[in-house]
Amino acid sequence: MNSSDAHPVDIAIVGAGAVGLAAALALAESGRSVAVVGPLHALRDGRTVALLDGSWRLLGELGLADVLAERAAPLCVMRLVDDTGSLFRQPPVEFRASEVGLDAFGWNVENAELVEALAARVRETAAIRLVPGLVSEIVADEAGVTLTGEGFPPLRARLVVGADGRQSRVRAAAGIAARDWRYPQAALTAILSHTRDHCETSTEFHTRKGPFTLVPLPGRRSSLVWLLDPEEADAVAALDDPAFARRVETQAHSLLGAMQLDGPRGRVPMGGLSVERFGAGRMVLIGEAAHVFPPIGAQGLNLGLRDVTALREAVSDSSDPGAAGVVAAYDRARTADVRLRTGAVDALNRTLLADLMPADLLRGAGLLALSRLGPLRRLVMRQGLAGGIGR
Ligand SMILES: Cc1cc2nc3c(=O)[nH]c(=O)nc-3n(C[C@H](O)[C@H](O)[C@H](O)COP(=O)(O)OP(=O)(O)OC[C@H]3O[C@@H](n4cnc5c(N)ncnc54)[C@H](O)[C@@H]3O)c2cc1C
Repeated sequence: MNSSDAHPVDIAIVGAGAVGLAAALALAESGRSVAVVGPLHALRDGRTVALLDGSWRLLGELGLADVLAERAAPLCVMRLVDDTGSLFRQPPVEFRASEVGLDAFGWNVENAELVEALAARVRETAAIRLVPGLVSEIVADEAGVTLTGEGFPPLRARLVVGADGRQSRVRAAAGIAARDWRYPQAALTAILSHTRDHCETSTEFHTRKGPFTLVPLPGRRSSLVWLLDPEEADAVAALDDPAFARRVETQAHSLLGAMQLDGPRGRVPMGGLSVERFGAGRMVLIGEAAHVFPPIGAQGLNLGLRDVTALREAVSDSSDPGAAGVVAAYDRARTADVRLRTGAVDALNRTLLADLMPADLLRGAGLLALSRLGPLRRLVMRQGLAGGIGR
């Protein structure tokens, strides 16, 4: 096919997950013609995402404030509990949003509900073409990129944005090398109702197998993210709903009272991915196409939404959104933030997996220092939220 036969747009986004849909809205706002290509199905697997302040503000700017306010719960307190059984175990540490002058660290919402809300907004936006097919071929030349796939006529774009997740085809087409690794863990996800109030507090129990976290949802409901070794995850996942809920309640030391399942559950193998660069030759990567890590400290989607903000800035002053200068500016803008967070989450996860006394000692000393030293606590809170606040 000749590239001149293809339907032209300024920017084509491959992947209609949360990050791709948010990028479509943000980029269309700046007056570009945008196509977003990908199946629109939000998997309901009990996964929720904690949106930090910066993400919340971005989604508000994109017109989602009202719908999210109804469906998300604020996270006002974050509690860390050392549940490793270590000799050097320390008392729980609590971080309060009010200590850094905020009402909430973030807001927790079901991932599928977020994707549905973004998709509804995209459908209402005239400048965005929604193409519900899978891209199978990506051919780039100096002037643009042609996308083909089943069920839609070829598209020609000056910039292609890879929001197509961990196995990104855009990444492969751009020739961007990625390092992909696995952890000996799987995450169990679920939504549960409970008899006690969560008091807008998210509790992360650090266990030998990985973190076990309960995050508030509206009402007396919470979402679970439980990292376990894969065999144990299979055994717990095989329990029927009432037995599963009892197992979660026991693991939570009945902190939230009696529990019941209140939605679907899921199991996700854990791994990480980092890329050598964030763009090449009229293509850029955002979201899990560019970075994957375990769900510790609510970083993944928040980082993906910061990719969106950086991309919007990088294209804003250029008449050609795929110009080499735009791609280079985006790459520069994302390198430090993504590398810092990938390294920090990987290091924390590995110390939790290590059955070693020095790691225990360090973690115990760190938690103790955090609980006692106000300035250190505030520094850690600001680092955790960096990019969420003040950007
Ligand atoms: C258990 C768990 C808990 C988490 N909790 C949090 C949290 O609290 N806070 C947080 O910030 N993050 C969290 N994350 C991370 C967050 O869920 C992800 O970062 C985010 O969902 C990734 O979104 P994405 O749009 O980049 O990728 P995906 O959701 O993977 O979307 C990629 C899309 O691309 C499409 N696609 C793939 N190939 C093609 C193709 N060839 N053509 C067209 N389309 C294609 C797919 O169909 C899919 O729709 C968590 C993750 C897990 C596993």
